Amino acid sequence: MKLTIIGTGYVGLVTGTCFAEMGNNVYCVDNNLEKIANLKNNILPIYEPNLASLVKSNQEKGDLIFTGDLKEALDSSNVIFIAVGTPEKEDGSVNLDYVYNVALEIAEVISHDSLIVIKSTVPVGTAFKVKELIESNLDKDIKIDIASNPEFLKEGVAIDDCMHPDRVIIGAQNDEVFDTLKELYSSFIVNSDRFVLMDVKSAEMSKYVANALLATKISFMNEIANICEKVGANVKNVRLGIGSDKRIGYDFIYAGCGYGGSCFPKDVKGLINTAADNGYEPKILANVDEVNENQKLVLVNKIVDRFGEDLSGLTFAIWGLSFKPQTDDVRCAPSLVIASEIIERGGKIQAYDPKATDNFQQNFDSENIVYENSKYDVLNDADALVLITEWKEFRALDLDELAKRLNQKIIFDGRNIYSPKIRKAGFELYQIGC
Ligand code: NAD
Repeated sequence: MKLTIIGTGYVGLVTGTCFAEMGNNVYCVDNNLEKIANLKNNILPIYEPNLASLVKSNQEKGDLIFTGDLKEALDSSNVIFIAVGTPEKEDGSVNLDYVYNVALEIAEVISHDSLIVIKSTVPVGTAFKVKELIESNLDKDIKIDIASNPEFLKEGVAIDDCMHPDRVIIGAQNDEVFDTLKELYSSFIVNSDRFVLMDVKSAEMSKYVANALLATKISFMNEIANICEKVGANVKNVRLGIGSDKRIGYDFIYAGCGYGGSCFPKDVKGLINTAADNGYEPKILANVDEVNENQKLVLVNKIVDRFGEDLSGLTFAIWGLSFKPQTDDVRCAPSLVIASEIIERGGKIQAYDPKATDNFQQNFDSENIVYENSKYDVLNDADALVLITEWKEFRALDLDELAKRLNQKIIFDGRNIYSPKIRKAGFELYQIGC
């Protein structure tokens, strides 16, 4: 098929590349022309495992074309995906300016009947507004079909998620649209049970509900972790105890120092906002977000309990800045909050992340943080190690190296990845909920 993907970020770039890999002819459009120029030279704006080689090979075979020229792309496409950002506004509502601007740009240059597919996460009703906006600004007789096809890829394993999706949700108004999108996705899906076909609004809603439920599971377990600490129970054991119940399962019930990323925080708030706009006050959702914000402070509270409120004269080695492993994304990352709280109390930071240092530096302005290129260099003369993101390279600890470099053998483990056995080697270990 001939496709256009508008918005070449985490979602647009991964999706476009995977469609091209399957033999489709894909235009990836972005209005950030520097990004497009870099992509043409195989310089990627994001880190995502295995993405770089796929971008290169598909550009070389001519199936993946990067451009800032929307008309050129639409002239050659029948199916147009909108994958631009839908960030949070200050009041927690969803900023749809990028989506609506794209709708107006499409109306201006589109030249033939097309299917517009909303892949961005958008509040219920947005797809119909996009269709309305395009149609009311068209000066030609063109048929526009609209579909909602929310994206469920996870940063860090995005290529795999895209190539092997758990399900593909398609919200549409007629069989022709369902058939077109099913055909497109059939190269990723052998088992047709994985297609979930529904009306447009339910598809839009499904994306928010999925993220809100996952965020709820995390905040629920973090709340349980905090209770465990009070009563002397161990949340890791509790997880094993409850996860064996098939109705509960083991996934997404790990305690930690809070979730981040561009999706959970904004989508929970977006759903709260949609509910409020429609006269409903959601009680569970409001607390999911609050629990998470507090959870980002749990490690800081432990640091303060150990060293006192005044951290001046102390240096903390941070391992992991991205909001989760295998990505360079730091949007809403707990590391931003933890680092700023340490520095506000007079502490200094030496930080290391395998991929996210540049992004973190762009989002965090302080003279009291230095960045190193190795996980061991940040330990030199630090008074404690603070593990925030559980990259694989942090899992196996070289205790001799730690003991040699750290001033004090203290570890704050924000993801509960270390064995309490390291206490036998004289380390103080602080974890979440145990
Ligand atoms: P992103 O910020 O990484 O990328 C958005 C891109 O859109 C940017 O490159 C920007 O330059 C471009 N853009 C903005 N306006 C444009 C215009 N008028 N024309 C062309 N390009 C334009 O965003 P993202 O993380 O890829 O997220 C995109 C959407 O997908 C959001 O709604 C998000 O909630 C949703 N989503 C994200 C993820 C994720 O893991 N990142 C997963 C599922 C769904």
